[in-house]
Formats: sequence, structure tokens, C-alpha cells
Amino acid sequence: LKLELERSEKLKIVSQIAASVAHEVRNPLTVVKGFLQLLQESVDDKKKDYLKIALAELERAEYIITDYLNLAKPHADQLELVEVPTFLGSTLEIMNSYGLIQNVQIHLNCNQTDLYVRTDKPRLSQVILNLIKNGVEAIPETGEVTVNAYYRNEEIFIEIIDTGKGMSKEDLSQIGTAFFTTKDTGTGLGILVTIRIIEALHGKISFESELGKGTKVTLRFPAAES
Ligand code: ADP
Ligand code: MG
Repeated sequence: LKLELERSEKLKIVSQIAASVAHEVRNPLTVVKGFLQLLQESVDDKKKDYLKIALAELERAEYIITDYLNLAKPHADQLELVEVPTFLGSTLEIMNSYGLIQNVQIHLNCNQTDLYVRTDKPRLSQVILNLIKNGVEAIPETGEVTVNAYYRNEEIFIEIIDTGKGMSKEDLSQIGTAFFTTKDTGTGLGILVTIRIIEALHGKISFESELGKGTKVTLRFPAAES
């Protein structure tokens, strides 16, 4: 127990530092971005290319900071009773148009009723969005992301399954390591943030993946009574 406390104390301090750094860095970035955009209108084509690269890199920095800000708030603070199917339905709706653009169908598969968890809704929704986004990004041409939800042995299971390219054993063992990404514009922070949130929400997360077949992420939470 002592070790655990020390660990969470450490996490708290790191989180607070991360939050203030992220906040302080975001403001000057916004100013620089604004000036670069202004400059774009009055320079020749070659310099325009330089500015384009500079702006793209700024955008990348912003992505990283956004993920850090989320990482910086790992503690669940607003627990409420959430009816899982309705919650998943509205979360999936957010992703549907994104999926359509990428030629990916996103399905919800849930025929049990009375599925409840006591949780921090925005955090859980960030987790689901992160995982669906990864699923969609793993699909090269066209495919499907399926979300299953069901009750078993006093737990609520939520599975996010994609028909994407899957992961090798090496990649699978690296998942959740800070900055591990195989994408050109990835941050390698999504899963790390997801794992931290799940931990804070007293849930469990596991990954199964097969190269060329797809990936299944399983989340488990203690079931709540309505
Ligand atoms: P990012 O998405 O920015 O790369 P993540 O932490 O979300 O960072 O994911 C880390 C890496 O794990 C990805 O770059 C990818 O290689 C792998 N990965 C995560 N989810 C999936 C998935 N559903 N299918 C295949 N690979 C995945
Ligand atoms: Mg990601």
C-alpha cells in the first residue's frame, strides 16, 4: 500500500507540472502560428513552402500538448451513473462522419439492457474515441469498427474491434509506451493516456491483435446498479 501511495503521489506531481507546462506553452504557440499565417500572404512561393512546414510542425506540437493536457488530468473527479448503450450510441455518433470519410463503418452491437457503470463520462468518452480513432486509422482502404457491450460476472465489457492491419508481436509489446507510434503524424500518446484514464476509472484494458486481420481492445468496468 505504501508503494502505491508513493506512486500516485508522484503521478500527481508530474501531472501538475505537465498541466502547467502545457498551458504555458500553448499560448506562445498560438501567437507564433498567427504571425506565420499573416506572413504567408506576403512572401514568394519558396518561402511559402517554408512557412507551410513551420505551421505543420506547430500543429504537431499542439497535438502533443493536447494529449499531455489530458494525461495531466488522470483522476476521475465527476462520477455519475451512466447507461452504457445510450452513452456508447452518442459517442459513436461523434465518430460516424469521420468514419464515413475514411470508408469505415462503425457499428454498435449491444442487445442487453440494464448495463450501467459509475464513471467519469467525459473521460470514458475520450477513451472510446481514442480507441475508435486508432481502429479507423488502422484500416487502409475500407473496413469496419465494431463496438460490443455486454454484462458478464458483475462486469461491463466494452470491446472495440477493427478489421485493420493489426499489430506484430513487437508492436503489441510496445503499445502504451510514451511516443511509440508507427504513424507519420502520430503522437504515440493516445494509448498511454487511455491506459492512465482506465486505471483512474478502476477499469481494465487488454489488447489482442493479429497482423493482417485486425485488433480487439477489451475494456472491463465494475457494473453498477441503476
Ligand atoms: P498514435 O495513434 O498517435 O500513433 P497511440 O498511442 O494511439 O498513438 O497508438 C500507438 C501505436 O499503436 C500506433 O501508432 C499503432 O502502431 C498501434 N496501434 C494502436 N491501435 C491500433 C489498432 N487498432 N490497430 C493497429 N495498430 C494500432
Ligand atoms: Mg492514436
